Amino acid sequence: MHPDSDIDAASPIYLDHGGTTPLDPVVLAGLAERLGWPLGNPNAAHGPGARARRLLEDARRMLAEHLGGRPEEVVFTSGGTEAITLAVRGCTTASPGRIALGATEHSSTRTAVESMAEQGWAVDTIPVTPTGRITPEALAETLRPDTRIVCLMLAQNEIGTITDIAGLAPVVRRLAPRSKLVVDAVQAFTKVPFRVSSLGADCVAVTAHKMHGPLGIGALWTRAAVKPLFKGGGQERGQRGGTQPAVLAWAFAEAARVAAADTDACTRMAALRDALVAELLAVLPDATLTGEPPGPTRLPNNAHLCIPGLPSEPLINALAEVGLCASAGAACSTGKFRVSPTLQALGRRAEEGAFVRLTVGRFTRAAELPEAARRLAACVHALRPAYAGRLAPR
Ligand code: PLP
Repeated sequence: MHPDSDIDAASPIYLDHGGTTPLDPVVLAGLAERLGWPLGNPNAAHGPGARARRLLEDARRMLAEHLGGRPEEVVFTSGGTEAITLAVRGCTTASPGRIALGATEHSSTRTAVESMAEQGWAVDTIPVTPTGRITPEALAETLRPDTRIVCLMLAQNEIGTITDIAGLAPVVRRLAPRSKLVVDAVQAFTKVPFRVSSLGADCVAVTAHKMHGPLGIGALWTRAAVKPLFKGGGQERGQRGGTQPAVLAWAFAEAARVAAADTDACTRMAALRDALVAELLAVLPDATLTGEPPGPTRLPNNAHLCIPGLPSEPLINALAEVGLCASAGAACSTGKFRVSPTLQALGRRAEEGAFVRLTVGRFTRAAELPEAARRLAACVHALRPAYAGRLAPR
């Protein structure tokens, strides 16, 4: 244990903020207070209903402000998956056309698009560079005049690559003028500065739990009239049925406010991430960083490493046992080592070694990082002998 640190070998270390984030204490306090308020159904005419409606509409106004759009363009959903599915399915036209999809899109987008393929839509995959970028040329080659939906992500969840949506949107408008541009900003919101009004997108999906807000609430910003996935009682201007969770919506908007007020959070996270990578490369010199170099084209909180000589899954399991929360970009199924669709799109192979994602958050402490690197190196060294000769380097 470092003499100035309260982190010892038994302390849990959470470096999976790309998976989900702990609630911000300020958001938690406000949420707990409001859960105790006598609120009615926000669609009811009586006093408690009106109070819930005010909370909901305040949240919509606040969130719209942080997104750079108008309140009436915000549709609350249960999270990012629902927001993306609403955008993809809600933008489809009666007669099937083509959907263009970035090769490293999140499974929520991929599966929404696959469900449209089952209904006769043709799907075109937009290839990425070895660091996960979509170039204007690759996009232009993929688009067709009958492309109706284009799905791109602002920040990639595994490797953290940031896509220049504002730069690609004109290509979409020029080559597929009748298409809707659907953007997944789930990982980007509060970590990549953007305003929906200047992205050039039609729909932008966000979620609270990736930014120290609560699970169970997300939103779709949309300037397109999207068809609802379920009509229910016609809530959210007919775009998403179901009684709105006004308190969760408020907590989402509050999380956005609190994150925006923490003006040096991204700089802090980038410094922590850089320190973590330096610690890791010092103890595992043959490891390499996947994706874009740290800087404006990579999420400030994301480190994603390839560590030769062992597969991902046993490493992630061993890390869980020693209290280091990380995630893998690869899965082992039916005894065969496979990389995730994202890593496949980058041309990476399971034989290269373990792929590990470590993501810091606003509350990560510098003192946790040397101990995280020590645990990771210890697990790697303990596992490698069992895989000697079974994985070929790149
Ligand atoms: N898109 C990206 C890039 C994500 O990382 C995630 C969650 O991991 C989602 C969409 C889905 O969001 P949610 O977990 O809120 O459904």
